[in-house]
Amino acid sequence: MSETKVALAVGAHPDDVEFLMAGALALLGDAGYELHIMTVGNGNCGTAQYTHEEIIRIRGREARNAAAIVGATYHHGLVNDIEIYYEDELLRRVTGRVRQIQPNIVLTHSPEDYMEDHMNTSRLMVSACFCRGMRNWQSIPREVPTFQDCYIYHAHAQLAVDPARGAHLPGLLHLPRPASGQPRPHPPADRAIPAG
Ligand SMILES: [Zn+2]
Repeated sequence: MSETKVALAVGAHPDDVEFLMAGALALLGDAGYELHIMTVGNGNCGTAQYTHEEIIRIRGREARNAAAIVGATYHHGLVNDIEIYYEDELLRRVTGRVRQIQPNIVLTHSPEDYMEDHMNTSRLMVSACFCRGMRNWQSIPREVPTFQDCYIYHAHAQLAVDPARGAHLPGLLHLPRPASGQPRPHPPADRAIPAG
């Protein structure tokens, strides 16, 4: 049995993990966890300029580049934005991802949020993790049940967004990755980046 611990951050859309969970994920990487990032939506509605195919390609590339900064493997979206529903097929597909990645820690959205995609992503992840060991719950693709310990942590829904959109994030992701075994320095209190 592998001793490697696995952390999985799951956002509804490309950029959600970066805004809400990337700092915690980077720290888990520093602690020796194998890192994964997954989005449930493909980002197709995040544009007023590009076509469906173009924006999925652009946002997928951005997400893979962001994942590479913290040394995470990126898993692309499963459905279109605004089509993230708590429904049978999507829950089976998300369960398939959970059984493939076998996370010990899952970071995802708050179950109470300002956006349905975020709340449904949270519900899907909770159920997929709950069902991961059920032999009679068939995932898509069909994967064998898994029984590793799995703890779920929910990001604060408004952590990175204030009502005036004058948002601030801890600048952790902007710091260089420390050498192996070295603790990541904490950013100065005034070091912050604006959210988009
Ligand atoms: Zn989002």
